[in-house]
Amino acid sequence: MAAVDLELSEEQTAVRRLAEDFVAREVTPYAAAWDRAEEVDRAIVRKLGGVGFLGLTVSEEYGGSGGDHLSYCLVTEELGRGDSSVRGIVSVSLGLVAKTVAAWGSEEQKRAWLPRLTAGEALGCFGLTEPGTGSDAGSLATRAVRDGGDWMINGSKMFITNGTWADVVLLFARTNDTPGPKGVSAFLVPTDTPGLTRRTIHGKLGLRGQATAELVLEGVRVPDRALLGPEGKGFSIAMSALAKGRMSVAAGCVGIAQAALDAAVRYAGEREQFGRSIAHHQLVQELISDIAVDVDAARLLTWRVADLVDRGEEFATAASKAKLYASEAAVRCASNALQVYGGYGYIDEYPVGKLLRDARVMTLYEGTSQIQKLIIGRALTGVSAF
Ligand code: FAD
Repeated sequence: MAAVDLELSEEQTAVRRLAEDFVAREVTPYAAAWDRAEEVDRAIVRKLGGVGFLGLTVSEEYGGSGGDHLSYCLVTEELGRGDSSVRGIVSVSLGLVAKTVAAWGSEEQKRAWLPRLTAGEALGCFGLTEPGTGSDAGSLATRAVRDGGDWMINGSKMFITNGTWADVVLLFARTNDTPGPKGVSAFLVPTDTPGLTRRTIHGKLGLRGQATAELVLEGVRVPDRALLGPEGKGFSIAMSALAKGRMSVAAGCVGIAQAALDAAVRYAGEREQFGRSIAHHQLVQELISDIAVDVDAARLLTWRVADLVDRGEEFATAASKAKLYASEAAVRCASNALQVYGGYGYIDEYPVGKLLRDARVMTLYEGTSQIQKLIIGRALTGVSAF
């Protein structure tokens, strides 16, 4: 059994400090306005690339900034602490797209996309979910059919993070009639390909600054070299991307939970009722200590996944546990912080309502909480209960 080392290295501490400074300067001051406007400032993508956050863990040979997965989690946590909409840009364009291209792409695909994605010159999105298939993603209906040396793609994708802005979609489509996951392949499709249209989804409960879109593909023609990885391997590629993606979502949730803790402690010291600050009331301290325990537990579960990934060990079940716990904890922490704020927590002049709205989706995407429980249950019992 390896020793548990909870000390950050000098490099990790420096990356965390860099992220704190970046978020304090470029994200936190604007988060509430972006939330109201339903759009983060698009210039943030270049800024994230410029500081190296869109290239973490990707090798320098392809324009990445290197680093380990714990550093990636530290940055993701800080971004989530500042604004989950910005955190989502990185979790998807780097975490789900660039890292998957790095793992599965041909040399030509890596050279074509990684330097641009890591610099923030191009943005990636991950197209798995469809209007009719969410949790049961292996049953997706989008079709890619060979047409000479090309592929012709028809179908649609729903709830695609970064979808409105993305330059490339990592798209999953059925390439043969085998029902279920085995007939699925992965493609890299530039979003300016004729036949691909997108519609921004407005009115989201949270992550309102995020450019979430529905993609429609009608006669989208791509060359054979757009295929990512072997034909028919697309579902495994998607699942391996999502396993690491869950670590990133968990880290973002730790950021939300930490922001809830910071806000609750600050407000409890300032607000006076019954002649003294509400921090003096035991039941307010209970709310705060419940948040604090959730923050620590969620962070430790998340760091454990990063450690397993960096040591090259099996991490998928640990990632599901971390994502399940951290997402549910983020909702609890934000709700408890709102309780500390009383009625003021309910209006958007104060930060905690946004934290709660942003936290809520974390229990839904990259596998709902129910799906994470089924993954964990399958690993323990050997029985698939999907
Ligand atoms: P459904 O699958 O219809 O589930 C409905 C309910 O049934 C849930 O409670 C679920 O847990 C439950 N359920 C389903 N099957 C089972 C079962 N076997 N056992 C027990 N309970 C079950 N997708 C992408 O591909 N790319 C993205 O970038 C992306 N970004 C997103 C951003 C946002 C803001 C949102 C809201 C979604 C995003 N998604 C994305 C989609 C997301 O991953 C799906 O919404 C999610 O997988 C759930 O699918 P669904 O919404 O179709 O719900």
